[in-house]
Amino acid sequence: MASRVLAATTSPYSLVAFTALGGAIVVWGVVNAASAIGAMNAGAEPAPAPVVAPVIAPEPPSPPPPAFVFDAPLPGQVINSPFGLRQMPWEENGRLHEGVDIAAPAGAPVHVATDGIVMKSGVSSTYGRFVEVAHKDGFHTFYAHLGRDAGLKRGTYVKRGTTIAYVGNSGRSTGSHLHFELRNKAGKPLNPALFMGKTFAEKDDLPLKAAAKVGRKVRLAQVSRWPDGVKAPDRLAANGEGVVTRAKGGRVRVRINVVDG
Ligand SMILES: [Zn+2]
Repeated sequence: MASRVLAATTSPYSLVAFTALGGAIVVWGVVNAASAIGAMNAGAEPAPAPVVAPVIAPEPPSPPPPAFVFDAPLPGQVINSPFGLRQMPWEENGRLHEGVDIAAPAGAPVHVATDGIVMKSGVSSTYGRFVEVAHKDGFHTFYAHLGRDAGLKRGTYVKRGTTIAYVGNSGRSTGSHLHFELRNKAGKPLNPALFMGKTFAEKDDLPLKAAAKVGRKVRLAQVSRWPDGVKAPDRLAANGEGVVTRAKGGRVRVRINVVDG
């Protein structure tokens, strides 16, 4: 027992601690002496040290991080087919284009629009190769007609801007482009154009109502080429708007003017 106490008091650590403490006291003493001498040299009574509030500019409170930040999946590229009712030349009826088409050269990297988790990647006959990403608050983004995906496994966390795939022309596609969708937690498609490249400070700022609206106008799509394996219907409008009727449940029918001859 006694030998242990002795060992502790003579250990090098105790010595270091003792020296450091001594050093601190000495420095403190010198500083006090110096200020006292300074006061006397000025010929004044040593006045009590004035209490001066430190002049530090108050830091502006850092704003809270925005609730949502959405990037464009292909920054700098334009939407060449918007969200809304659209009729392809080989279709007899207009139907909802549930996302936007962004033209880009094959192989261009596709960035995830906002932080999320890779949910699914696969191939569909219409959408071709696709990747689906889940985001907070139940939002989903969908990237289709891809050349290839970036090989990210299901469940991978992806930060906004991460390359998740590359542009291609797979599935029922009329040229190299990205089909990009944004859906709400109910699975309803939203107009991605109202989100791309935008920051929303609060969740209430999200334009959810406006983005879910589908205009009445049916756009007749112009395509440079028809996808492989798509046959023209017998009756095909040369051009014109057609007659749109809205059935219950949001289904839209378009009667096309039949062109004789
Ligand atoms: Zn599309």
